[in-house]
Amino acid sequence: MTAPSDSLSARMGALRLIAHVLRDGRMLRDGQSGLTGPDAARALRLAGLTLRHMGRADALLKRHVERQPAARVRDILRLALVEIHVDGAAPHGAVNDAVAMARTSPKTTKQAGLVNAVLRKLAEAREEWAALPAPALPAWLRKPLAGTWGRERLEAIEAAHVIPAPLDLTAKPGAVVEGAERLPTGSFRLAGGQVSTLPGYEAGDWWVQDAAAAMPARLLGDVAGLRVLDLCAAPGGKTMQLAAGGAEVTALDLSGKRLTRLRENLARTGLAATLVEGDALDWTPEVPFDAVLLDAPCTATGTIRRHPDLPHLREARDVETLTALQYRLLDRAIGFARPGGRVVFCTCSLLPVEGEHQASAALKRHAGVAAEVPDPVAFGLPPEAASAHGLRLLPDLWSERGGMDGFYMTLLRTPG
Ligand code: SAM
Repeated sequence: MTAPSDSLSARMGALRLIAHVLRDGRMLRDGQSGLTGPDAARALRLAGLTLRHMGRADALLKRHVERQPAARVRDILRLALVEIHVDGAAPHGAVNDAVAMARTSPKTTKQAGLVNAVLRKLAEAREEWAALPAPALPAWLRKPLAGTWGRERLEAIEAAHVIPAPLDLTAKPGAVVEGAERLPTGSFRLAGGQVSTLPGYEAGDWWVQDAAAAMPARLLGDVAGLRVLDLCAAPGGKTMQLAAGGAEVTALDLSGKRLTRLRENLARTGLAATLVEGDALDWTPEVPFDAVLLDAPCTATGTIRRHPDLPHLREARDVETLTALQYRLLDRAIGFARPGGRVVFCTCSLLPVEGEHQASAALKRHAGVAAEVPDPVAFGLPPEAASAHGLRLLPDLWSERGGMDGFYMTLLRTPG
């Protein structure tokens, strides 16, 4: 049992994290809850849950509160509503702590009465809460998604975002993860759990990687003995797949800090790769590669179910900057492959401008480069995963099994 004071401090920490995301534009994982140990973990979980369901809390508040309160009070109300209606918190404790939180700041202490009255009333609104639609994505995402896949699919994606992602693992060839479901694509799936205590962690038999994220490297098939360049490699999920498959891997990334994580991942799994810290836009290899894998920086909108802070942080203008970078990186990747070599381009984005459109545009500007369109069924994926020049995975695929991240991937062959 958590003592009341502990739950209040975790709730206060969650409130700080929510403010960091919504008002300081910081990612949840970079926010400061001011806590350590289990309270810090609880604050992070509560902040994530609140951001995931914020659209529902706001819809309820809009209906029942005449004048929208100031930002901090709104966050206190959102947190308590989500705890009560989603997390199953006892209304009494959640309301008391919400009132206590309002009283901790001179700016919000006068609103303590309002917090109490609103929450007492809305704690009872269980049926109304249950009937609320899943939180809508921001307009800059909704419009292109509805335009490409239709409104029904968009709503299925939004519904998938409400459900936290399961824990997917990629195992070394021949290794199995005890107690996990083996997915048709080859990944292992668990409901959750503390990664470092799972069997096989110490032995380095597997690494954490969403089933969708494990697909781009699988498009290359048997890579044993091939020289493969992983162009935006860190923290190294795909590098480890390629190295475990017997490829001679060069893993390049711009970020030294992220490469340190890649190095640690390789050390734990006992796999090897040549690491290069550099900018793919001005680095050139001495010898071209048999295959190049480009997992380009993107809006990461395919990972919203893992990162519920993303819709509150990204903006339409990020898309323009990122697509321009993807365009240039893809040209570099094609240039680094030997004649007759292969290039996998992928992004964990929901947006076709970061996927299908990039592939189409690259095929137009590189005469002789051809897409080798994979059959999704041959990879254990549903037929609807086929998309222009490649595979399109969306979070509502395999919804009965727990879904998957959003990803686009294409396999290109250079002429020669
Ligand atoms: N492939 C990785 C994996 O599977 O673990 C994830 C890669 S993440 C989507 C994109 C990476 O691109 C980041 O690590 C980032 O540091 C790197 N990056 C961004 N711009 C780059 C550039 N110009 N050159 C090289 N790496 C870059």
